[in-house]
Amino acid sequence: MSEIKLFIEGEQTMQHLGARLAELCGGRGLVFLDGDLGAGKTTLSRGLIRGLGHEGPVKSPTFTLVEPYEIGTVRVFHFDLYRLEDPEELEFMGARDYFQNDALCLIEWPHRGAGFLPKPDLTITISAEANGRSLSLLPQGPRGESWCAVLVQEFK
Ligand code: ADP
Ligand code: MG
Repeated sequence: MSEIKLFIEGEQTMQHLGARLAELCGGRGLVFLDGDLGAGKTTLSRGLIRGLGHEGPVKSPTFTLVEPYEIGTVRVFHFDLYRLEDPEELEFMGARDYFQNDALCLIEWPHRGAGFLPKPDLTITISAEANGRSLSLLPQGPRGESWCAVLVQEFK
């Protein structure tokens, strides 16, 4: 499957998209979130993490680099690599242990971790457009393809 394009209007719909992706992935996988500051990467992550059942706040991990969540048996690691100076820092943080098959990793600014990060299941690139956001979803494996097949039907 190739790239799919969606237009998502408003923060609520963005969070709803995240919640659907949460249901589809069941709290497992690796998702890259690309796009400028203010694109909506954290908003989409918030929808995903809440969609998995987290009830507290979902803050941007800009300063902490990673925020971990434990939601029942599901583990989520939400990264924001904007302030990462060298991909090697991820090694020092012990991030390799996070990229396991039974966890969901969401990564904002994935290019900053190039060379260290494994290949994702899905890359979502977001750009601001008028009163909404255009999203490009690029599946990079069978899991990502199956999620996208559903999302394109529901959000096109
Ligand atoms: P990023 O993490 O990419 O820097 P944020 O998620 O913090 O960006 O979002 C920045 C702003 O974009 C927020 O004010 C949010 O309400 C708004 N926003 C997010 N998604 C959408 C959307 N689909 N349509 C309109 N506004 C959106
Ligand atoms: Mg952000």
